Amino acid sequence: MAANRLKSSVLEGGCACGEVRYELRGSPMIVHACHCTSCQRRGGGAFAVNAVIEAENVVLRSGELHTAVLHDGESGKPCDTWFCSKCGTGVWVRYHTAPGDCRFVRAGTLDDPSALQPDAHIYTRSKQDWIDIPPDARSYEVFYNIKEVWPAESLERLRKNIETSEPLDRGD
Ligand SMILES: [Zn+2]
Ligand SMILES: [Zn+2]
Repeated sequence: MAANRLKSSVLEGGCACGEVRYELRGSPMIVHACHCTSCQRRGGGAFAVNAVIEAENVVLRSGELHTAVLHDGESGKPCDTWFCSKCGTGVWVRYHTAPGDCRFVRAGTLDDPSALQPDAHIYTRSKQDWIDIPPDARSYEVFYNIKEVWPAESLERLRKNIETSEPLDRGD
């Protein structure tokens, strides 16, 4: 799978009002186009583009975030969502079902959202009918086996991340 090749090693982004500014250090481990019902509701769109990256590589540069603990509509498990405390733009999410300590950064909040393209479309069972997934794209009715889909380099990063992260209430 072609991992996203970045023009620069740092991606910058922020919220709609400009108070929250952040940067991602390095490329995401994987990028999902997520067609799940939660992403549709939370983002107010047909799908979300989520850049999955280690929490330590997400750096808040300015502004204040508040967190809401929601329950993911698909798994019923907790997911923490971070918003700009002023304008309410959601910038990233931590799914308790996901291994390690990773953030699912809403790629639409990047200054250049075109810097990233989805590696995989997930939860296509709830995708809107008017969206056609490109025939050469990886797509999954629900989810996939990480070991089969992620590039080796990303698997290695995830392994390190799991090793160094605090245990989390997975909502079981
Ligand atoms: Zn804001
Ligand atoms: Zn989703």
